[in-house]
Amino acid sequence: MDKYEIVIGLEIHAELSTESKLFCNCAYTFGSSANDCTCPICLGLPGTLPVINQRALDYAIRTGLAMNCEITSYSKFDRKNYFYPDLPKNYQISQYDLPLCQNGKVEFELNGETKTVALRRIHLEEDAGKSIHAEVTGDPTRSFMDFNRAGVPLMEIVSEPEIHSPEEAIAYCRAVKEILEYIEVSDCNMEEGSLRCEPNISLRPQGSQELGTRTEIKNKNSFQELIDAMEYEVKRQARILDSGGKVVQETLLFDAETGKTVAMRSKEEADDYRYFPEPDLVHVQIDDEWVKEIQPSLPELPAIRRRRFTEDYNLTSEQVEFLTSTRQIADFFDEGTKLSGNPSICANWIMGDISRLLNNAEIEIQDSKLLPTHLSELIQLIEDNTISGKIAKSVIDEAFQSGKLPKQIVDEEGLSQISDTSELEAIVQKVIEDNPGPAQDVRDGTKKAIGFLVGQVMRATQGKANPQAVNQILSKVLSEE
Ligand code: ADP
Ligand code: ZN
Ligand code: MG
Repeated sequence: MDKYEIVIGLEIHAELSTESKLFCNCAYTFGSSANDCTCPICLGLPGTLPVINQRALDYAIRTGLAMNCEITSYSKFDRKNYFYPDLPKNYQISQYDLPLCQNGKVEFELNGETKTVALRRIHLEEDAGKSIHAEVTGDPTRSFMDFNRAGVPLMEIVSEPEIHSPEEAIAYCRAVKEILEYIEVSDCNMEEGSLRCEPNISLRPQGSQELGTRTEIKNKNSFQELIDAMEYEVKRQARILDSGGKVVQETLLFDAETGKTVAMRSKEEADDYRYFPEPDLVHVQIDDEWVKEIQPSLPELPAIRRRRFTEDYNLTSEQVEFLTSTRQIADFFDEGTKLSGNPSICANWIMGDISRLLNNAEIEIQDSKLLPTHLSELIQLIEDNTISGKIAKSVIDEAFQSGKLPKQIVDEEGLSQISDTSELEAIVQKVIEDNPGPAQDVRDGTKKAIGFLVGQVMRATQGKANPQAVNQILSKVLSEE
């Protein structure tokens, strides 16, 4: 392998989460009964005419802005002609020479280093339907068609071939996925096929500037499969080149069961598709006004947020990684910090008890009843000594279950800390009487023994005593006797 440099470029397809399809009013929900989400337009019936979904254009422009692209002021759609049973019109409406966005870049971290991958283009096209064969139906004599997905807006993000390892390719894909999730244009669910990453891979002798012949791998639905496929393919090409052979430019399918890539079809060239401008659609003119309208809908992007969390909040890289893992966690943390003024305590609660509760309930932070106000109120109650850290854990459990605010829980359940000296003194007296041995140890100068007595007082008060006050009273009583 040392002889070769790996060159990878990625085509990433993301289904946009618009309410309707790209050229008709149909709503698409994954898992609907076959052909329930269809109409004459997305079924490609003769005489129907497509109309562009403006929201899909907005989403593509938003993505272009998030990925530092130039937004094409004069863009259009083109017909890409090919015959597949899942393509009802026998052509796909896509974009050829005037994609909506061009020349962008995506930045990401890899092993502590900042990398940049340049983007060639981002364009929109319609998704195809699905053929359902014998593996699913058990009937080898015929296949069925489900056109629910036909016409769903698909955004294709095409990188330059400047990624040099499968690991870097995955880091790039994760960064793209994260941005798409942050800007809320796609749910990026890989298992449901809303995000599909297709690597193009070639090898070239170290030091060579010329690109080698590439193969393209289709249909990856998890990052693990993607990395297995790329690693297998790199080795396969190296073996071919080592033995003096030539890599054939083709599209491969990775079989996760066997861990091998198999040829699917020889690579089509643009000519094979006989592209021409889609005559049923108007051209798309995107003026500065339109772009300016979209600009404010962009949230702070993950890379910038990471930098801010590191610099402004003085968090460790581990904390930053966790707290920015989804936009919703980062929003929760940001809001909790704003309310409580204490980033490091917020970070500890979110990474500790809150994530434990979320894991146990198997939900995401945005689906929980717990809000940043709950957290900041809880922190306040600990800071002003109303409750101990231990009680706080049970309060957050309760708040998580019921959505009640911590103050209300503390009031209703009488959980306030006992800091009243006379009340505590009486309990301390009783604990000393019940535990003469350890009490004597303390009197004799064995300081450690006091911990046991504090523990007994905490137990007697169900954890509600203020441990510092108990400690002081115990020392005072035992030394005065
Ligand atoms: P298509 O696959 O539709 O023909 P392109 O030719 O634009 O489209 O290439 C698609 C992807 O393949 C891009 O991401 C590009 O970076 C990558 N690519 C092109 N040539 C090579 C190569 N020799 N090695 C690796 N990746 C390549
Ligand atoms: Zn439709
Ligand atoms: Mg391709």
